[in-house]
Amino acid sequence: YTAKQRTEGAVVYDAVFDQSSAQSLSLLTELRNAIERNEFRLFVQPKISLATGKAVGAEALVRWVHPERGNVFPDQFIPFAEQTGFIRVLTRWMMEQSAILSHELASQGIHLKLSVNLSTRDLMDQDLPAKFADVLARHQLGPSAFCLEITESAIMDDPVRAQQTLERLHLMGMDLSIDDFGTGYSSLAYLKRLPVNELKIDKSFVLNMEHDTGDAKIVRSTIDLGHNMGLRVVAEGIESEAVWRLLVLMGCDQAQGYFMSRPIPASGLAQWIRQWQPPDGLAEDPVASAA
Ligand code: C2E
Ligand code: MG
Ligand code: MG
Ligand code: MG
Repeated sequence: YTAKQRTEGAVVYDAVFDQSSAQSLSLLTELRNAIERNEFRLFVQPKISLATGKAVGAEALVRWVHPERGNVFPDQFIPFAEQTGFIRVLTRWMMEQSAILSHELASQGIHLKLSVNLSTRDLMDQDLPAKFADVLARHQLGPSAFCLEITESAIMDDPVRAQQTLERLHLMGMDLSIDDFGTGYSSLAYLKRLPVNELKIDKSFVLNMEHDTGDAKIVRSTIDLGHNMGLRVVAEGIESEAVWRLLVLMGCDQAQGYFMSRPIPASGLAQWIRQWQPPDGLAEDPVASAA
């Protein structure tokens, strides 16, 4: 983050919610009320195995159905929720809703790993592992039902404490993923010590990779880097079949993007899975399905 980027971020943000202290106070009140008034929605976006063409997971993404402003996207309130610490309440809500969804899907014979996003504030919360353990126990779920996504920048805000929390979550048996990989400032020396299972290549490198050879080279190298470190590699931002096919050729493990599905309400996920068909030829490949 440079000071300039931070200012630009605030300008975009100001367009929706004014940052004067009176406005901030009312936004915090609105966020708090939103939980009680049931204005948050759990949306999910499927994660597909590029080896088998099957849905293997889904990312939990929050939406806010605001009574006056309509649908508010996370980029417009997550930064504020992080600043104020409200994010902890929201993270817990997302975990709870994801657990309910996981249970419902399992009862229909659908077993997916659900990914929940964590922020810096969550990583600083000493009670976070215990909160997750409580959610798992109440919903009778194993830790492998979840993956937790953390951005490089969230980790680098306070690497020592982040590592402590991540170690504890890892010991509980939950998968950990580095989100938006390639856009932060983490050092590889640091990353190799983190107990992570997955790298998620940032969509800025993926969106246009069939036309931009620079992006394609970054994606290919990141897949190789992740595999050499023993990690699962996921690409986000797949908007075309051409990019899907490139990622298959490059040996990327999983894909998430508008080409397969936009984020959808959690209630529609089982139906989406039943109708999903990967691009021709992939599901029938006997070598790929055995992998
Ligand atoms: P993220 O975790 O990197 O999530 C992926 C974002 O990329 C989502 O935006 C998703 O809709 C978008 N996306 C997925 N596929 C495509 C594609 O093919 N093309 C394009 N152009 N975009 C695609 P969304 O839902 O607006 O969320 C934005 C960010 O807000 C997330 O980025 C995450 O950092 C944050 N966020 C969302 N929900 C939560 C939450 O419950 N907790 C926390 N801490 N952060 C959240
Ligand atoms: Mg994410
Ligand atoms: Mg991401
Ligand atoms: Mg992002």
